[in-house]
Amino acid sequence: MRLAPARGSVPASLESRPTDLYGLTRPELLALVASWGFSTDHAARLWRDLYLGFARSLADLPEIPARVRARLAAEVRIGELPLRLETASGDGFTRKFLLGLADGRTIETVLMRFTGRATACVSSQAGCAMGCVFCATGQMGFGRHLGAGEIVAQVVHAARALPGGRESRRLRNVVFMGMGEPLHNYDAVMRAVDVLRDPSGLALASERITLSTVGVVPGIRRMADEARPVHLAVSLHSADQAERAALVPAARRWPLDELIDACRHYCASLGRRIFFEWALIDGRNDTPAHARAVGRLVRGLPAHVNLIPLNPTAGYPGAPSRGDAARRFQRILADDYGLPSTVRQRRGIDIAAGCGQLATPAGAAVSCSAPAGPGS
Ligand code: SAH
Ligand code: SF4
Repeated sequence: MRLAPARGSVPASLESRPTDLYGLTRPELLALVASWGFSTDHAARLWRDLYLGFARSLADLPEIPARVRARLAAEVRIGELPLRLETASGDGFTRKFLLGLADGRTIETVLMRFTGRATACVSSQAGCAMGCVFCATGQMGFGRHLGAGEIVAQVVHAARALPGGRESRRLRNVVFMGMGEPLHNYDAVMRAVDVLRDPSGLALASERITLSTVGVVPGIRRMADEARPVHLAVSLHSADQAERAALVPAARRWPLDELIDACRHYCASLGRRIFFEWALIDGRNDTPAHARAVGRLVRGLPAHVNLIPLNPTAGYPGAPSRGDAARRFQRILADDYGLPSTVRQRRGIDIAAGCGQLATPAGAAVSCSAPAGPGS
């Protein structure tokens, strides 16, 4: 598989001119403002304006002195992503935002609400290079990586959209389960995570940020070695190399045995549990034999399995599991292998906000339903 060159390694400050404030960590913002000869108090105020006040424009910063604002206007911008379309599910729990990027592409972000808490599902790329057959984003192909600022901007948009969003901190969870493969855009994603976790800004707890990967082995090993403070979910879908490669072409590059080795390394070096995702496809990977195969494969790992009944997409003929196949699968995992699992709640299906469901020719989007386990 050919991968587009990663752009995330370029420092956010060089990615675009003027610099997108959402792409800077707090220490970087303080250093930038200090390099102009101004007090870092102004930078600290600006940080709060961005992430607690949700300021939309540099003109919207009354407490920043005019001379500082003038320099800001010359050097930086607030990388707001304009809302092109918003849809809401009939049950009122899920909202989907189609957001515009500066180059005319679009991405989607999903906001899911449960009692008293909210989860933002963000995109890490416009499109995806991994080509999973059942995923509409994979079916549409790769557009480009998102910059860290474009990822953070999605979270700010979702947080602001919550009732009483200003200063409310009601957005509790972020999942990298929207459009794209986050470990294919490692540097930008991790920079965004640093911004999201900053205690004087959005202050998201590390155990409430979940990154989902198709199984990019070098990225998983790097996360382990760098002790990145986010939960990891690995999209497994099959416990057999040939079967998996037919669903997830990336498995040819990173075979199942190497993937499970990387997962073991991750759990052992960080002392953390790991999540596996399994899209349940009728007759294809939902039989008792499949359940036993996954039980054997991940034996000994501190794992939790998230079962996602397949969401339909235009380019894939498979159907979601029928009847009580999901419960039967769960029972085998639990009774025979002591493996906990959750059947993911299906939310937002009426607005096509289910995992892997959407794509438009102009570069819109995939989104996801409620995560089980961390971040939910
Ligand atoms: N690229 C990452 C994260 C985005 S996809 C990854 O693949 O993990 C988020 C989740 O949705 C993944 O577990 C993915 O396998 C799943 N998914 C994709 N298409 C789906 C579909 N049609 N039905 C159910 N789950 C799907
Ligand atoms: Fe990309 Fe994930 Fe979709 Fe696979 S499931 S094509 S990795 S977004």
